[in-house]
Amino acid sequence: AKEAGRGCFRVYDAALHEVHEQKRDLETALHDAIEGDQFVLHFQPKVCSHTRAIVGREALIRWNRPGRGMVYPDNFIPVAEQSLLINDIGRWTIRAACEAAIKWDANETVAVNLSARQFLDPDLVEDIRNILHETGLNPSRLELEITETALILNKQLAATILMQLKAIGIKIALDDFGTGYSSMSYVQSFPFDRLKIDRSFVAAMNGDRKSRAIVEAIISLAHSLDIPVVAEGVETEEQASLLRSLLCEEIQGFLIARPEPFILSEQADPKSARS
Ligand code: C2E
Ligand code: CA
Ligand code: CA
Ligand code: CA
Repeated sequence: AKEAGRGCFRVYDAALHEVHEQKRDLETALHDAIEGDQFVLHFQPKVCSHTRAIVGREALIRWNRPGRGMVYPDNFIPVAEQSLLINDIGRWTIRAACEAAIKWDANETVAVNLSARQFLDPDLVEDIRNILHETGLNPSRLELEITETALILNKQLAATILMQLKAIGIKIALDDFGTGYSSMSYVQSFPFDRLKIDRSFVAAMNGDRKSRAIVEAIISLAHSLDIPVVAEGVETEEQASLLRSLLCEEIQGFLIARPEPFILSEQADPKSARS
């Protein structure tokens, strides 16, 4: 039994070693990705639930990894978050999003996702200030999407950062709303410009009475605090019409448009078409 136990332990060790190795390789590849300009942004519109007019676009990062094709954020952002790589990726993302938005209709906002670590980066506010200055984007057109995780870690610091961002004129959205632990207290104590209902509730809404009740509760909570609501992951007309009847201001999802590269003709570059 002792022998077998030790054997198991060795197998476990080897597996753990493998995992560490893979993580290190991924970190190295991510480092090269930053240097080598391998990230791209796709944009997904947010529209008015009544008129379907575009009010803004959310930037979603993708990694054009050489030899591996398009890698989606869930497969590399968590690893980047465990190191300082996320801060470099984040700065790149904010800049690329602002550079894109400057070419759009001036009424449309651009939303950028920030992970907790990025949000708490002491250089964030100054970096954003510089990026806005250099790109010339009106701060009111930039919206940062943060999750509760960013606020839980250090409530005091988070409040200070939010105030500084708001003072610049930037908008703040609370993302994935309803999936966290103490969402209620956060909407009350932080100055959000928007709440985003998580797509898990939207997906379950039409069939399931309880999910629908949660969506209704989120919308009425937000409205009682004068905060407009965006529903993400809207895939069907049924969902869209229910959300409209619940007075949800904006919707986003495959029903309206999938995330896609925002290509203006002058940007068309044969090099970026390679895979
Ligand atoms: P999220 O912010 O909740 O973004 C919504 C995700 O749902 C996106 O996945 C989007 O492509 C997908 N989606 C949009 N509409 C629909 C729909 O109708 N149905 C379904 N099934 N899915 C829909 P994506 O692009 O893979 O991003 C996943 C997550 O990665 C994002 O979740 C966000 O948390 C994170 N992320 C994306 N870009 C960035 C970034 O630049 N920086 C950071 N820190 N995180 C990012
Ligand atoms: Ca988001
Ligand atoms: Ca979400
Ligand atoms: Ca998310």
